[in-house]
Amino acid sequence: MAGTWFRCGSRVAVAPGARLRAAAEIAIARTRAADAAQPRTPALAVELNADLVGLGADAPKLRHQLLAWWELHGRHAIPWKLRPDGSRPADGEAIDPYGVLIAEVMLQQTQLAVMLPYWERWLAAFPGLEVLAAAQEQQVLLLLWQGLGYYARARRLHQGARQLVLRDSGDPWPRSLEGWQALPGLGRSTAAGILSSAFDAPEAILDGNVKRVLARLTAAPLPPARQLKHLWQLSEALLDRRRPRAFNQALMDLGATLCTASSPACHRCPWQQACTAYAAGDPARYPVKEAARTVPFQVIGVGVVLNAAGEVLIDQRLNEGLLGGLWEFPGGKQEPGEAIEATIVRELREELAIEAEVGEALITLEHAYSHKRLRFVVHLCRWLGGEPQPLASQQVRWVKPAELESYPFPAANARIITALRQRLAAGRAHAGAAAAGSGSVG
Ligand code: SF4
Repeated sequence: MAGTWFRCGSRVAVAPGARLRAAAEIAIARTRAADAAQPRTPALAVELNADLVGLGADAPKLRHQLLAWWELHGRHAIPWKLRPDGSRPADGEAIDPYGVLIAEVMLQQTQLAVMLPYWERWLAAFPGLEVLAAAQEQQVLLLLWQGLGYYARARRLHQGARQLVLRDSGDPWPRSLEGWQALPGLGRSTAAGILSSAFDAPEAILDGNVKRVLARLTAAPLPPARQLKHLWQLSEALLDRRRPRAFNQALMDLGATLCTASSPACHRCPWQQACTAYAAGDPARYPVKEAARTVPFQVIGVGVVLNAAGEVLIDQRLNEGLLGGLWEFPGGKQEPGEAIEATIVRELREELAIEAEVGEALITLEHAYSHKRLRFVVHLCRWLGGEPQPLASQQVRWVKPAELESYPFPAANARIITALRQRLAAGRAHAGAAAAGSGSVG
């Protein structure tokens, strides 16, 4: 990058000592302009396009710097990127797409260190596409995915495996973006990640790490979600088409290990000299964030309903939505001015057509999603009557408390199960002590 700056459409010669100062002023001015002009103005859009045109000439050097860094400092032991014997594939060599597919879907909302044990467990249980396609959905969700969240991903993965084994071509693995994107839940970046990782195909990626790195490299003045098209163009312009697998991995590794969200290690970064956010003096300010919005808060009344046989009532959520297909204890939103006991009685009537007596509180817990915060107020309840009906769920079931672990539950419900077990154990101990006491008196 010596003597040139890629911000503008034409390459502009600048004195080396003045470059960082100039870049900093430019970046700050652009960010201020963006802050004052949302949504994006035509002038800003033109400037972003100019970035991309100017980058082309500097791309070879950026590729070389990144790959040289990656050879020394990259994450080279990621199991689904290796041959079966654990060695690195040569450039252009294909590897088994199955492990790559599972990993890419698991990584959609989860960091590598968290998902790795899940991936290993999954590969042990479902070592190939045919085994996965033949599995029961409950088996896929239960334990193998439980804890990773976003269960719809697991269901779509299972559906996708069934689609792949039915492909007419004889080869289950698509070789195009369109072929992979035809599977449920696979967007462009996931499809491109599979193609470049498995087949070393020249496809650019744009996952969360890559968005952050590119937004900082160019001090992008808008939040990534508002300039996806430009970030995609930037990723395509930078991609090393002779070594796409290595380049994409290097870009992800840079984002995961150096250009981290809160504390970028710019002093060790191969792109420091080219990075506009670094030159601006406050790289963690990028990517520019959306204005904070108020997250709605709701109180949910939950009933843990027990019958005379000591069984507990659970229902399976509909398949749509964040926790679709999982089991849970019945309940619903508290209405304004409503006592929580009344909420539980109403929800049990509306959703299960049963009558129940609300008893003592079992547990209160908070859970935050990206779009809302929930407080679950859970009470023990005694079933009074009415055959449970799945009016707002797929099915309902009476189960022994000891059988609850055979059902996949969301994380918040797992804490309710623990509290229930403790309460039942305490109740048994209390009853035992009372019986012993009355025996000694008699
Ligand atoms: S110099 Fe810093 S902000 Fe820029 S890409 Fe490197 S680590 Fe990220």
